[in-house]
Amino acid sequence: MKLRDSNITKLKHQRFDVLIIGGGINGAVSASALAARGVSVALIDRGDFAGFTSQHSSNLAWGGIKYMESGEYGLVRKLCMSRNHLIRSYPSTIREVRFFTTVQRGFRWHPLILWLGTWLYWLIGNGFTRKPRFLSRRVIEAGEPAIITEGLSGGFEYSDAYLYDNDARFVFNFIRAALNYGCIAANYVESLGAERVPSGTDFEWQTRARDQVSGEAFVIHSRVLINAAGPFVDEHNRLTGETTRHRHVFSKGIHLIVPRLTPRHRVLAFFADDGRLFFAIPMGNRTCIGTTDTRVDSPCVQVTDEDRRFVLGNINKRLRLARPLGPADIIIERCGVRPLAVKGGNGADRDFLQLSRKHAVEANHEHRHISIFGGKLTDCLNVGDEICGAVNRLGVCIQHAGFRWYGEPPVAVREEFLHQARLMNLDGYTAPESSEPLSRRLWRRYGAQAIGLLENIREDPREAEVLITGTEYIRCELRQAARREMIVKLDDFLRRRSKIALVERHEVIRHSPGLMDACHILFGDQAQARHDEYFRENG
Ligand SMILES: Cc1cc2nc3c(=O)[nH]c(=O)nc-3n(C[C@H](O)[C@H](O)[C@H](O)COP(=O)(O)OP(=O)(O)OC[C@H]3O[C@@H](n4cnc5c(N)ncnc54)[C@H](O)[C@@H]3O)c2cc1C
Repeated sequence: MKLRDSNITKLKHQRFDVLIIGGGINGAVSASALAARGVSVALIDRGDFAGFTSQHSSNLAWGGIKYMESGEYGLVRKLCMSRNHLIRSYPSTIREVRFFTTVQRGFRWHPLILWLGTWLYWLIGNGFTRKPRFLSRRVIEAGEPAIITEGLSGGFEYSDAYLYDNDARFVFNFIRAALNYGCIAANYVESLGAERVPSGTDFEWQTRARDQVSGEAFVIHSRVLINAAGPFVDEHNRLTGETTRHRHVFSKGIHLIVPRLTPRHRVLAFFADDGRLFFAIPMGNRTCIGTTDTRVDSPCVQVTDEDRRFVLGNINKRLRLARPLGPADIIIERCGVRPLAVKGGNGADRDFLQLSRKHAVEANHEHRHISIFGGKLTDCLNVGDEICGAVNRLGVCIQHAGFRWYGEPPVAVREEFLHQARLMNLDGYTAPESSEPLSRRLWRRYGAQAIGLLENIREDPREAEVLITGTEYIRCELRQAARREMIVKLDDFLRRRSKIALVERHEVIRHSPGLMDACHILFGDQAQARHDEYFRENG
């Protein structure tokens, strides 16, 4: 807790150029871009970083192929460019993956038309990925025996990209980068609203904050306020008296994680009973299936029996499994709302599924206030750049405007890491249950910081032992997480910094030898309390 405690002290005593409310993807990239370019920036989230919408996505960095049908070619072009930019900037984290898509007879489009559409999609994306391919029934049968081919008219295969680790880890790495560049960030600190208070001949924003752990209230001072509260942007604007041209409507989406459905490493895509694209996405030795798209009025949602029936029913209808999937096969459920930006009174009346998924950055120059509406993980680098521009236009000097604030460390650093890893035979320590060599995983998760882990293991090889049996996380990773990853609750580690709680059943985690050791490393003398709190809150 040292890092968090010292940051909270700084939040109370410093005056910042910019305060960001919300540590989902939009807040995280804004903090990272601004801090890297020399702006003094603070960020707070009332839960954990990426603890709301940004932990419930489909983990895809995609060009929005489905928006081709609504003719939103401008949006598709933009998303394809963002996807390509992400793949180039994060080659270890964001990987191209094939979408093996099948089409039922009588579907609104013939597979040949859809296949031609995938060529257009490929061209719009500058031909950056592997080429699309038409799938006849025979090719589908040979390529994926799990698919029920009766009633199929054919299919097609195309490429997009996915996040190899979970979405929340991807977001946290932007928070971590922001901290490296001097951002003062703290999780579990809520904004209760902000007001503009005269300061000399000017004014400043004073945000009333409450530390959710200690209960202490304090004020954060800043010149600019950025509202990146995701589905709560409108609510926070009401608290501060800001009126905006945009507002949010919400679309609920769920995913179910089940044991791996097929050994082939690709996404199986179908058109579900509601006509929407529906995916079975690989997640190590699990499969993540979904999603749904239901209009809701509140951001706080739960998986219903109807949602479960829809997802399981669609999979069972399309895949030939040893036995149909049932509720007992569900390892974990994920459920969130997409905050969709609409302007003024528009949008609510339009066909809900056709609502555009573009983001909007809306600035009030007089109030030096910015709201970020909508958005996608895929578009996150653009959001960071746009926020730098918007903050600059509000009168904040961006000292290092040309600095490249994102991306993996240079190739030379990676080569150095891999060379050191080879010399000490790091991959020899890879756990049998691990899906990849240890060196690859450490580099992807920690980048340049992984070099320090090598030193820990050289000093004491026990640092390479897997701590929580059945997972791949090793002792020195937990020590590093305790120091650098601001873990307040056990869920922060199990669900977001790592993906243990996404792929392991609750009961397995509960009885895993080593869990208590992990709690001691993460929480010291609070270990038992944090352990009990996790199992109380998570059933
Ligand atoms: C089912 C589903 C599937 C999706 N799939 C994809 C996909 O495959 N690819 C893709 O690119 N995008 C996808 N998205 C979209 C993407 O996940 C979201 O657009 C994105 O995560 C939203 O991020 P955000 O930062 O705006 O909001 P959030 O992640 O919700 O972050 C907002 C944060 O603000 C905090 N906050 C709120 N109020 C306060 C307050 N008063 N004080 C302090 N903090 C506060 C919250 O705690 C929260 O952490 C999907 C979304 C859903 C729901």
